[in-house]
Amino acid sequence: MKAAAFEHACPASVADAIALLAGEADARVLAGGQSLGPMLNLRLSHPRLLVQVNRLQELTGVAADADAVTIGACVTHAAIADGLTPDIGGGVLARVADGIAYRAIRNRGTIGGNLCHADPAADWATALTALDATMLLQGPDGARSLRACDFIQGAFRTALLPGEIMLAVRVPQLPADARWAYEKACRKPGDFAHAMAFVLLCGGRRRAVIGALGARPLLLEDDDVSLAGATHSLRALSGLDEVQRRMQLVVLSRALAKAQA
Ligand SMILES: Cc1cc2nc3c(=O)[nH]c(=O)nc-3n(C[C@H](O)[C@H](O)[C@H](O)COP(=O)(O)OP(=O)(O)OC[C@H]3O[C@@H](n4cnc5c(N)ncnc54)[C@H](O)[C@@H]3O)c2cc1C
Repeated sequence: MKAAAFEHACPASVADAIALLAGEADARVLAGGQSLGPMLNLRLSHPRLLVQVNRLQELTGVAADADAVTIGACVTHAAIADGLTPDIGGGVLARVADGIAYRAIRNRGTIGGNLCHADPAADWATALTALDATMLLQGPDGARSLRACDFIQGAFRTALLPGEIMLAVRVPQLPADARWAYEKACRKPGDFAHAMAFVLLCGGRRRAVIGALGARPLLLEDDDVSLAGATHSLRALSGLDEVQRRMQLVVLSRALAKAQA
């Protein structure tokens, strides 16, 4: 099937992009097109206007300071996997990016598109919730920022308001004592994961995030970061069967063991 007819605009700035979105109620932002493209072709989405943003320099920059690395929303997974962006410590961002899909997808797919699409099995939502990243957003009413755990609201649901664009993601630098592990279960390399867990231990605090739950990532902190704590929380989630729960626990136990090794 082919996409329904649409208008295509390539604005010269974020301000122009926001003005275009404000002027057409049935408009969508287009970044790498790796999720939106298939949705258009399957006619699951049929906007009248696509506003392409992935060539805007304002969205492809990267900056680092002592506290955090700020990555433009249209930086590709491949750029992060290849180490073309500064890391926050231990190669964690490159490790996450390199495990996303396969090279052709990573070459075009963007960190912002991945987060705004909010596929529950996507890697950045889980990893950036664990790393307590902040999403920087800009819309017709100005700029705002949201923590990843507040931005992702459910399967394919985010806190983005109509006409808003994600500008960048600000990821805190990891302290020197940080230990982390990221584990996933995929049926074959390049597939979306069926279970995933990110464990972060630092400064006496513990955090684990479980993803691929068909819902928003599950955040566990401190005393809840254990197989018993995860079992309890996973039982409380509807829509997970026993096989899925066990798969999640196996993946979490691997991540816990690696982070503690
Ligand atoms: C075969 C296949 C396998 C994949 N496997 C994985 C995987 O294992 N792990 C994983 O994490 N991902 C996976 N993906 C998803 C991929 O990594 C892309 O990140 C994802 O498709 C979206 O990024 P994009 O830049 O292509 O966004 P697009 O497809 O262009 O856009 C996606 C959505 O986000 C919105 N959007 C995009 N950018 C912005 C912005 N800056 N501000 C506001 N809204 C915006 C768009 O309007 C659209 O609704 C896979 C995709 C495919 C096709």
